[in-house]
Amino acid sequence: MRNYLVYIKVEVSGRMPARARMQSPQAYVTPCFSVDKLFWEEQESRRLFVIGSSTSLALAFAIREQINRQVSKSGGAFTEAVVDELRGMVSGLVNETNRLYGQRVAVEASSPSAAEAYFSVSPWNQPQYESSEASAYPSHLSNTLTMTHKQLIKEAAQLYGQISGRALFLDEIERLSEKQGQPVSFMQEALQWLVLQEKTEIYPGIRLELRKGIVRHTLTFRCQRCGSERHILLCTCHTCGQGCAYCTACLDMGRSKCCTPYVCTAMPKHDNRAVIESGASPLQWSGQFSPAQSFAAEHARRFVASGNQSGRFLIWAVCGAGKTELIFPAINETLAKGGQVLVATPRKDVVLELVPRLARVFPTTKVIAVHGSSLEKWKDAQLVISTTHQVMRYYRRFDLVVVDEVDAFPFRGDEMLYRAVERAAADEGKCLFLSATPPRELTRKLVRKKFFQIAPSSATHVMLPLRYHGHLLPVPQVVQERQLERKMRTGVRMESLLGAAADTLDADRQLFLFVPRIEWIEHVVDYMVRFLPATDGIVAGVYAADPDREKKVMLFREKRLRLIVTTTILERGVTIPRSDVIVLGADDGVFDEASLVQIAGRVGRSADAPDGMVRFITAGSSRVPHAAVKQIKRMNRLGLSVRKEQVHHG
Ligand SMILES: [Zn+2]
Ligand SMILES: [Zn+2]
Ligand SMILES: [Zn+2]
Repeated sequence: MRNYLVYIKVEVSGRMPARARMQSPQAYVTPCFSVDKLFWEEQESRRLFVIGSSTSLALAFAIREQINRQVSKSGGAFTEAVVDELRGMVSGLVNETNRLYGQRVAVEASSPSAAEAYFSVSPWNQPQYESSEASAYPSHLSNTLTMTHKQLIKEAAQLYGQISGRALFLDEIERLSEKQGQPVSFMQEALQWLVLQEKTEIYPGIRLELRKGIVRHTLTFRCQRCGSERHILLCTCHTCGQGCAYCTACLDMGRSKCCTPYVCTAMPKHDNRAVIESGASPLQWSGQFSPAQSFAAEHARRFVASGNQSGRFLIWAVCGAGKTELIFPAINETLAKGGQVLVATPRKDVVLELVPRLARVFPTTKVIAVHGSSLEKWKDAQLVISTTHQVMRYYRRFDLVVVDEVDAFPFRGDEMLYRAVERAAADEGKCLFLSATPPRELTRKLVRKKFFQIAPSSATHVMLPLRYHGHLLPVPQVVQERQLERKMRTGVRMESLLGAAADTLDADRQLFLFVPRIEWIEHVVDYMVRFLPATDGIVAGVYAADPDREKKVMLFREKRLRLIVTTTILERGVTIPRSDVIVLGADDGVFDEASLVQIAGRVGRSADAPDGMVRFITAGSSRVPHAAVKQIKRMNRLGLSVRKEQVHHG
């Protein structure tokens, strides 16, 4: 078991021992005290006071925090009496942590079994550490270094190059260092050296915090990786043998626990003068922007170029606006200054599609794909295209982070995404969000209004209300069909559905028929074949877990299927020219305003067929489908004014 020692370092001033003053106390946690001793011995006049040790990194860390809070609050002279006081405080903290952990064990169903104590600290009775007294320490704490000082410095420097700009668990660092072909032999020691140099920080995967209220104290658990406080479960742990807990919110990226060292290393500032002076443009693209695209792309570029203000920017572009090209100038701006860019997108297939596309227009830039099973995951590059999950593995690294389809992330509406994105950005890095249906969280903060209307642009946003072909969005019709589900199941003729579907098929167009739930698919397919026998053989249903999903979508693309009955999985991504959309049960809770806008966005995307039909069939009267229609109409109004403005300027 790894043992974490907590000690306090003080600076000693005054040459005469009798008049020496101790000041600037600071607490540290270390798994290898010998490295710390070596580090402080290099610097003059340091004295170390050991407080105790624990196998729980989270507890050692909580003790460190408490001590640092206490000493910064009390100020005054630091004496050995203060050390004794702090030791007393620590044992109080451990007792209180045990009591509160025990309370939670009693109420949580999946908890470890009840015990006398969950946490323990081996106290330290020696008054203080002097380098000459090293032999007085138990062997596991005074473990003599098995490497030379020079070796340690060399390994630390090598490791720093590998981990900078990343946030990883210790076992991930071991894998990374191996995959990069330069394994570090004294990992623990090299890491601790970097901690002491303030180049990296090591946290417990789950942090413990004792919060003292006026009435009662609470023990909170917080996942250092994803920031979750609510999805933490207590567990019996064989790694630390102490009270432990793990996070279920980010579990699919590996287990974050109280005793897993989580290493966060900022990217050091690099010297970019050579790149800037070369003046070469990394972007080699001969495509043409529409006037509206050019307006949006230029605003995004200016946001990235602006030196002083950092932060977030939103490109609110309708479905089919041609979003990918919009970010070329912003990416170019960053790369030309020698900066690094991360493009994060929710789906792996989009990552795989973007990489060759970006590599083509940035031919001299190294572009890599980073997703769960990617071999390039551990490599470094100027332009990284990754899935959202992988964003959590970066730390204060990128000068520009582009977040594509921000509303489609697995944690929609969750703080987790913003936290991960902002953490992946370098200190003065910028975050650029792209969406057709941005979450309120972003529009509230970034979209400025002018005379109660959305402004076409501001310092923090730009609107792209027109599709690349310049046409407006088809406006959905909302039609109510009472007892929709019963009629569908019992085979009652519904003209609202059948008439519209027949019109589409007769016009030699294709139809997306969205349904709220998988169970509907079979019934709807039967219903269509029964009332429109001509659809027999050209209709199919598809859902997320459908083993034939890809094949059916391909047949639909090839027009061998004309009508596809689907759940929300085809809400985005699949684009079919000359297609219409009907949403059955559009007032069902699975469709929110954003997903209805996305679904409507399937229609009229190609330049030669920019129009089409979108129909929301509802059973009751819900506000949501109407809100989606309102949003689309608002975009169209904005689109019209942009078009007028362009004529005026042209
Ligand atoms: Zn977590
Ligand atoms: Zn543990
Ligand atoms: Zn004008």
